Amino acid sequence: MADDAATVTARPENDVATGPAAAARGKPMVLSFDVEEHHRIEAASGLSIDPRLKADYGDRMRKVTEWLLGELAERKILATFFVLGQIAEALPKMVRAIAEAGHEVASHGWDHRRIHLMDRDGFREDVRRSKDALEQASGSLVAGYRAPTFSVVRRTAWAVDVLAEAGLLYDSSIYPVRHDRYGVPDAPRNPFLVRGMEREILEIPPATLRLGGVNLPIGGGGYFRLLPYPVTRSALALARRDEDCVGTMLYFHPWEFDPGQPVLPLKALSRLRTYVGVGRGRRRLAALMSSHSFIRGVDLARLQFERRADLPRFSLGAGADRGPEEAGPSRARIEQA
Ligand SMILES: [Zn+2]
Repeated sequence: MADDAATVTARPENDVATGPAAAARGKPMVLSFDVEEHHRIEAASGLSIDPRLKADYGDRMRKVTEWLLGELAERKILATFFVLGQIAEALPKMVRAIAEAGHEVASHGWDHRRIHLMDRDGFREDVRRSKDALEQASGSLVAGYRAPTFSVVRRTAWAVDVLAEAGLLYDSSIYPVRHDRYGVPDAPRNPFLVRGMEREILEIPPATLRLGGVNLPIGGGGYFRLLPYPVTRSALALARRDEDCVGTMLYFHPWEFDPGQPVLPLKALSRLRTYVGVGRGRRRLAALMSSHSFIRGVDLARLQFERRADLPRFSLGAGADRGPEEAGPSRARIEQA
């Protein structure tokens, strides 16, 4: 066996079996699902939603999640489900089923409140409550966290301290892109150690493609649904050729695989962002699942944690690494006060 391995690694760099493209193919992907009802999306945050519609969305979310579990089981793929604490409380059997199938149950917060709407104590309670509810329902420890709407940003740098104190292994909430609602465009694109104000945690950011000096969000969301699949596939393949790429974090929501859903009365841009490509979501997921190897977020995190001395470090709090567009005297500190 050892001889075989030596033979393989001794091949030339440009060999099709071992070159960058082959290396890219060998890197795992993380399929992550943010489990929340359809109306939890930020674009709908100002709307008052009929309780019957909320109940309908809840029912649809459960059905789609069960459908996802079936699709994953059929292909023997393990995934990560970032679930709201409220959902663990309302649907403990569904959360237990996710864990019993071997998937990771991670936290998406308690009720989808974005971090900048909370203070430090409020966020600490949000994380604790969701982690407890998820651990109760799943019967397993929660190691990962994803903030609603990627709301771990410069001005919520203190949230990193709270996550580290809560004993989580990793966070997947820092999207290194420029976006009107979230993002830290100068954050590393591959796993890194992020420092908040005082503490640090392992960060596994959603996938991006660096093109023309800009990070394009290719890990999920509207772009993922909007672009033709061959473009998405090529973008992912290109990003995975990066030497520093150790795996690809993708994110989806159950509602993205629910083509018959009642639509919310959103404004034109939000409507486009939300519903574009939903009709082809299931097909696209099937194509993705048939052409890659997969790993759970917690397993990728453990592998990274083992080599943490080699990982890049990035400070989200006041001080170093502040991009010129975000310059200004300690914005994080001012907003915290
Ligand atoms: Zn969410």
